[in-house]
Amino acid sequence: MPKLQFDKARCSTCKAVSCLTKCQYLSLDAASAKKEWQKIINGEDSFVLEACTTCYACEEYCPHGNHPFYMIVDRQEEQGILPSPRPIITMWVNQCEPVGKFTVGLMQEKALSYCFLPHFNALAHGKLFEDIEYSVIFGQEFFCNAVYLHYAKTSLIRARLPGILDNIRKQGIKELICLHDECYATYASLAPAYGIEVPFKPVHYYEYLIERLKSLKGMVKPLGLKVAFQRNCSTRLIPQMDAVLDDLLKLIGVERIDRKYDRKNALCCAEIFRMGKGPDLADDVQKRNLDDMQASNPDYVVFNCPACWDSLAGKVAERGLQPIHIIDLCKLAIGEEQSLKLAKMEAEV
Ligand code: SF4
Ligand code: SF4
Repeated sequence: MPKLQFDKARCSTCKAVSCLTKCQYLSLDAASAKKEWQKIINGEDSFVLEACTTCYACEEYCPHGNHPFYMIVDRQEEQGILPSPRPIITMWVNQCEPVGKFTVGLMQEKALSYCFLPHFNALAHGKLFEDIEYSVIFGQEFFCNAVYLHYAKTSLIRARLPGILDNIRKQGIKELICLHDECYATYASLAPAYGIEVPFKPVHYYEYLIERLKSLKGMVKPLGLKVAFQRNCSTRLIPQMDAVLDDLLKLIGVERIDRKYDRKNALCCAEIFRMGKGPDLADDVQKRNLDDMQASNPDYVVFNCPACWDSLAGKVAERGLQPIHIIDLCKLAIGEEQSLKLAKMEAEV
């Protein structure tokens, strides 16, 4: 079974221990953080393992390229700590098990991954995708499995991921454009952290959109909009993509508002907290985030992750704000319509 490649020696000389001191859900000074982190490295019990909300952010907070969050999840599993109730974990384990039913389109060497999310069937059409829209993989056989990081199940990821990667390779795919941020995070961060070889080139859809929009240059009309960005948990595994998002927004004339809960201080959709820690924390995090979005007075609230969309887009709309997925924002810039909408928004059209 692949093992986490973790540099323990780097931690022993790390004074700031930012993986834990920057955590938004723990309150630890550097000395206590060092003590707790050492216990975690040693495989001893630490309250951090129970308290962790699985927000993923410590992966980004470590400035040394170590993998503190993957280490936490490994240790939670070893110690039998369940970040969510067992029936929910079991449901996820069973629901996403590969069953040999391959859902694929007209495959080319370059393909789109819908992951396990039907939202992309609405989003990934039109001029931006016209050369590639039917070269698609979807479903359990291609599901990245990163969600199990929320359920203390790295063993399941390590067991299933090599087979998933092989399923993708067997479609003849050389370049996979990941429409779900979490898939790209799996292939660019999680798999390498466990020494799992990825037999194709993963491409984040931000990068794809930048290239596509450049090739459609004559059609792009700067939007002149200000937006609040909802930063999802998996962005913490691939923080290098945050600057790529800035480039993409610049290309379509969109300003990302500098609000309190974006970038390193972002708040995730918090629905995973509802299951693991209860409604009080989830409601508090969502309220702070929505209040902050509202105070920033955006033209749109922009989503990257469909799971965030499902959790928050309705609540955003209830506040009189307009939710939109990044792909749809790019469509607006070339004169196309928003394709992923809430039922309420459809009814208003
Ligand atoms: S994981 Fe990173 S931030 Fe945490 S102690 Fe180790 S080197 Fe420092
Ligand atoms: S995953 Fe989030 S809650 Fe857990 S230790 Fe890391 S930063 Fe804190």
